[in-house]
Amino acid sequence: SGKKITVLGLGTMGAAIARAWHAAGYQVTVWNRTASRAAPLAAEGAKVAATAREAVAASDLVVACLLDDASVGTALTDADLAGKDLVNITTSTPGTARDRAEWAAGRGARYLAGGIMAVPPMIGVPDSGAYVFYSGSPELFAERRDALAVPAATRYVGADPGAAALHDVALLSAMTGMFAGVSHAFALMRGTRVAPKEFAALLVEWLTAMAGYANGVAVHLETGDYTLGVTSNLAMMVRANETLLRTAEEQGVSPELLGPFLTLMERRLADGHGDEGTTGVVDLLRR
Ligand code: NDP
Repeated sequence: SGKKITVLGLGTMGAAIARAWHAAGYQVTVWNRTASRAAPLAAEGAKVAATAREAVAASDLVVACLLDDASVGTALTDADLAGKDLVNITTSTPGTARDRAEWAAGRGARYLAGGIMAVPPMIGVPDSGAYVFYSGSPELFAERRDALAVPAATRYVGADPGAAALHDVALLSAMTGMFAGVSHAFALMRGTRVAPKEFAALLVEWLTAMAGYANGVAVHLETGDYTLGVTSNLAMMVRANETLLRTAEEQGVSPELLGPFLTLMERRLADGHGDEGTTGVVDLLRR
């Protein structure tokens, strides 16, 4: 049964993942709530189960890739999970992942939670950069890591089932901030003669050059000295922020995306930390 695998959920992501295992020679059993979505995989030779219960019964290794945690509970209501290895790569919060791990243990399954760091076209493509954070049962991970590494690389981040979701969401949150900054920048440039494509090239180059910012923050958090290596100090930056806000005003752009972060920088400065960088904002955010 080493090469058998069940995939629950054939959305854009689930289908890509099921297809990667099928292409690698695994005997794949699939199930999807809307049965018609299984037709392409069936045509490629995957086994289609009529119910999730039947799909779970077909393999010892069961992977769920559904819309959200609630759909996992619904789909597996009457499935017999005793003795199964359940790998749930459905996006969830750390707390929900812990609850789902307890739920799975109560039904006799070993459990691994996953957070997918990829979009579907990257799945099953060597060196695409795709990977999945995993956390939960270390035994399950050790025994199944070769199979798990087929659709995307794996990064095991600990026995706490919530750890994968926390890593996943932390990275997504940072990305969201970047998206916000890019949106503001394009809004500033809108209506100028500069073509969006031309400006995008500048953005990519600049954001890539600035990405090392995270390493400086890490040094500060690890040493407790938030002034180490600071070449752009908070007092200077808060003054420069006035230029950012005034330019937004001149260009008729709302400051609502920039505002919250700039306010936090001002608070940190007002607390007497003008010689630091922006790392103190991390502490202001912790409730
Ligand atoms: P889709 O919207 O394409 O598919 C959702 C899947 O969930 C479908 O199989 C759908 O079945 C099923 N589903 C929804 N509600 C229920 C329910 N109540 N009971 C049973 N099945 C249900 O989503 P994706 O495939 O793109 O995403 C799947 C997971 O992967 C999500 O958790 C997502 O956050 C994560 N992910 C996706 C990425 C992406 O870029 N697509 C990137 C990283 C993570 P039906 O066909 O019947 O509607």
